[in-house]
Amino acid sequence: MEPRDDNHFRQERIGMAASTQVTVLVGAQWGDEGKGKWIDVLAADGDLVVRYQGGNNAGHTLYVAGQKVVLHQLPSGIFHPRQTSALAAGVVINPAQLVAEMHKVRDQDVHLTPARLWLSGRAHVITPWHIHVDEQRESRSKSAIGTTKRGIGPTYGDKAARSGLRVGDYVDAAARARWIQRMTEVEPEFGPLLQRSATAWAAFEAAANALQPFVCDAESLIRTAVRAGKKVLLEGAQGALLDLDHGTYPFVTSSSTGAGGACQSIGLPPRHINRVIGIAKGYVTRVGSGPFPTELQDDIGALLAAKGQEFGATTGRPRRVGWLDGVALRYVVEVNGLDTLVLNKMDILTGLAEVKMCTAYRHPRLGLLTELPWSSDVLSACEPVYQTFPGWSTEIPKSGSMDLLPPEAKAFVAAAAAFCGAEIAMVGTGPGPGDALYKNR
Ligand code: GDP
Repeated sequence: MEPRDDNHFRQERIGMAASTQVTVLVGAQWGDEGKGKWIDVLAADGDLVVRYQGGNNAGHTLYVAGQKVVLHQLPSGIFHPRQTSALAAGVVINPAQLVAEMHKVRDQDVHLTPARLWLSGRAHVITPWHIHVDEQRESRSKSAIGTTKRGIGPTYGDKAARSGLRVGDYVDAAARARWIQRMTEVEPEFGPLLQRSATAWAAFEAAANALQPFVCDAESLIRTAVRAGKKVLLEGAQGALLDLDHGTYPFVTSSSTGAGGACQSIGLPPRHINRVIGIAKGYVTRVGSGPFPTELQDDIGALLAAKGQEFGATTGRPRRVGWLDGVALRYVVEVNGLDTLVLNKMDILTGLAEVKMCTAYRHPRLGLLTELPWSSDVLSACEPVYQTFPGWSTEIPKSGSMDLLPPEAKAFVAAAAAFCGAEIAMVGTGPGPGDALYKNR
């Protein structure tokens, strides 16, 4: 046998290709920033799009050939025929819903083969049991977190408790049966639920055969693609302020939504990430409970909600709406190392007499705060301190250079970039993939 060249082996296994091109795309607020559209746009010249966290609680809206499509689990690059899509270890998968979504995109002429869709055997499976636990907890609690009741939290909980069901075991009938047996032994309510929800369990089990051909060591394949210099886009499902550790706990999601979460989910060394792009809106929305200092409960809030169609893509729930929170955005820039920021949906702000950005919080006991506090109780008691800008009534051109922004909008964007410490290189002007202004065009 040839002696192994350790140095060569090392380089081959952990080295970066000269042209490594890995971008993480992070939602820079509390979600619904318009990530779907931007992933679709940025994926156009990429090779691989990877969803790294979340489950079917996400809802990304994109327009394909003028038709609206909402994706819950499949990565938003799936419509590009050259692309491979992957769901990595850090996601949780609802099998029956994923199969339904695969049918939906096939109906739109997407050719889905195991070479084009990689499902990590390490990802965890949302079962009817987890959905039941989520519903029970949320309905019994007096201070509900406002989850989507899709079983996401309990699935991540079981993962951490080492009692979850991984995709690789789920598609193996014997391993799946062993998991069901173990759960029946340890959870008194599990057996009765199996009986009561026989239809849901049957659908759950039936989806295993459909998914089986797609299950693979997705993380190893992704690392190989990175080493080969492929253009890879890592897609977060929820916003950075919903991160389990760095968000507004407990009003957060159950996974790591930020750029660091992408590395952990995939088993990709952090040094392979070349670029982190954050998607924020020119204002802020939030679904569910939790502190939201810049929330507008007035006519302006109602107007932005109506004009921006701020209703959840997954649940249809109305989103709470407020002014741009510069303090929270600067925090997200810092935590995720964002080098580029997109200020999306700027068209929605057109027509307002003035627009505002929060630059500090005032707390009744702690005084002026210039950083996002770690405590949700403290943040809930804060009043926003605003910088006010004149509004603009000229419609923003749909495409072209950011130089085409009305001067007032330009001043607002420049102030947001300076305050947050990230370059705003793109501005969203409408829902379509071409509806954007770019800095260097
Ligand atoms: P995501 O979860 O971050 O992908 O965001 P959603 O898809 O839930 O919400 C974004 C919504 O805004 C969708 O309906 C998009 O079609 C729409 N959208 C995205 N970018 C823009 C934009 O620049 N302007 C307008 N008016 N709508 C946009």
